[in-house]
Amino acid sequence: MAKLDIRQIPVLSDNFIYLAREPDSGAVAVVDPAVTGPVLDEAKRLGWKITHILNTHHHPDHVGGNLEIQEATGCTIVGPAHDPDRIPGMTVQVSDGDTYDLGSARAQVFFVPGHTRGHIAYWFKDSDALFCGDTLFSIGCGRLFEGTPAQMWTSLQRLRELPTETRIYCAHEYTEANIRFAVTVEPDNTALRQREADVKALRAEGKPSVPSRLGDERAANPFLRADAPELAAAIGMQGRAPVDVFAEVRRRKDVF
Ligand code: ZN
Ligand code: FE
Repeated sequence: MAKLDIRQIPVLSDNFIYLAREPDSGAVAVVDPAVTGPVLDEAKRLGWKITHILNTHHHPDHVGGNLEIQEATGCTIVGPAHDPDRIPGMTVQVSDGDTYDLGSARAQVFFVPGHTRGHIAYWFKDSDALFCGDTLFSIGCGRLFEGTPAQMWTSLQRLRELPTETRIYCAHEYTEANIRFAVTVEPDNTALRQREADVKALRAEGKPSVPSRLGDERAANPFLRADAPELAAAIGMQGRAPVDVFAEVRRRKDVF
């Protein structure tokens, strides 16, 4: 099983598009193309031939380049079976528990509703790579546009179980803003304070804070910590159900 060669393309104000190449077959996937031009330019610069698009959900800043890239390359478009009508040009539908092979690199598909009702994530186990769109961010999670707190908490718990070294290739550079909120929830979380310092240094050098490491997210991301007694205590919700704690943290972030 070959490891993917993954490149990050920052576009729009804060989106990341990823190019992932499987070296044995030369297959190249674009993950969540918000736009077309920068993707085709970067692929050309690298000498990579785009064969696939992998979509996590239907929002325009994730599928905006689908049709033009498909027209330019003839690529296969893989997306959520749960959302057949909202993924432009989708040719392969995948759902929870499915695998999808990009050359010899195998992705496991997770259905992770909450941000949207059809959201999926792709886990390339042998590359320690999770493409999770707008479900899990570094020190944050997606807004609940079409789902309930219970759905999102269930989705995040599934992603949280992946191996510690998994890299979180999320779709936005939101980390600094997420940290500004997170320290209001858990001001005494040392892992969070360490991440705050690390991200500040990265951003000061103009470097992305993404991908992050799942082990670090478990320790510092308040949305993965709704069942941690110290987080519940920090917001005065000791002994409450984790889903209620999660809902309260998400509500506070919405009005932050
Ligand atoms: Zn979105
Ligand atoms: Fe987005």
